[in-house]
Amino acid sequence: DMITGEPTELLSDIQPGRLVVTKNEHPTPPPPSSTLVFGHTFTDHMLTIPWDTTNGWGEPHIKPYGPLQLEPSSSVLHYAQTLFEGMKAYHTVDGRLLMFRPDMNMKRMNRSAERIALPNFNGEGLLELIKQLVRIDRHWVPKEPGHSLYIRPTLIANQRAIGVTPPNEALLFVILSPVGPYFPKPVTLYATTEFIRAAPGGTGSFKLGVNYAPAVMPQKMVAEKGYSQNLWLHGPEHYLTEVGTMNMFVVFKLEDGTIEVVTPPLDGMILPGVTRDSVLQLLRDHVSGSQTLKGLPQKLKITERPVTMKEVQDASRAGNLVELFGAGTAAVISPVHQIGYQGEDIPIPTGDGGMGDVARTIREQLVGIQWGQIAHPWSVSV
Ligand code: PMP
Repeated sequence: DMITGEPTELLSDIQPGRLVVTKNEHPTPPPPSSTLVFGHTFTDHMLTIPWDTTNGWGEPHIKPYGPLQLEPSSSVLHYAQTLFEGMKAYHTVDGRLLMFRPDMNMKRMNRSAERIALPNFNGEGLLELIKQLVRIDRHWVPKEPGHSLYIRPTLIANQRAIGVTPPNEALLFVILSPVGPYFPKPVTLYATTEFIRAAPGGTGSFKLGVNYAPAVMPQKMVAEKGYSQNLWLHGPEHYLTEVGTMNMFVVFKLEDGTIEVVTPPLDGMILPGVTRDSVLQLLRDHVSGSQTLKGLPQKLKITERPVTMKEVQDASRAGNLVELFGAGTAAVISPVHQIGYQGEDIPIPTGDGGMGDVARTIREQLVGIQWGQIAHPWSVSV
């Protein structure tokens, strides 16, 4: 601009066309899939995209997986200005590579970035680059049933100065990890009254690093008590919010015999899970008759509403608690068979096969779509 001296061009967005690829000269053979431990193995390549306030998004670079260089002053190391996503690529039996609703992850990542004053970006551009990364490492996507390639996009603030401000530099990177199947066995929860995960006006509905570090010690504590996950509660009413790092669903039998499937509403304390949204949509499509799920009654009540521990406890005692399960990308559906609450263990039915009808039917449908056995607009080719 002639008058203000400001540049007239907008800052650059993420541009897949600028991609530079540096091949790994020392690729490692993927280990046998049977030895995979979740999140411990990484593929030969990673994607990095720098950002700064002068130029906007810089050159995307696919290069050998390896250490990042950060100065000790880097703001992410002090103030936890970091956010991430979790998504997967699936190998179908007929040799295709699919992703599941990746646009949802790109939108959520942009929402997270906005919340901690990190830069937004063109989600379609990033998705295109992620696909290129997966294609380069496609022999790392395990072919065995139930296996997949976990994709971890991350965005960090990288201001080389101490001070809590929006950063003048940031770094986006994407790493890939082959993962084994998650056998859904019923888990036990500890309804935590000592700690909270999220609060009104806080950051619970964003996928930020800050939400996860404070959950590590409570997780260790529940494991020592013999439970597998925290059931995160809110308020003196003990509203149920999330299970470990999953959204949750409760199934009640109402007085007239109707089955009600409930999940807590997106009130700012709940992470808007891709799986949660998909479960709701599949159930609503079933009820409307547009896509019937075999094995479920046509008449179901699907609600997003608050649920208290008292309601769960009362329903359990009255024999009206039908199922309770977690939902997330890693485990898909995770049935719960017991909740420790204020010194009592609340039993939850899980059906003969370790999963109730709703959990099992929904899981089969989701898994069928994700691994390409059921054609669905949610599937995106890599
Ligand atoms: N809640 C939390 C706190 C999570 O970390 C996750 C995992 N992303 C979920 C819920 C489930 O979200 P999604 O279905 O998108 O994996």
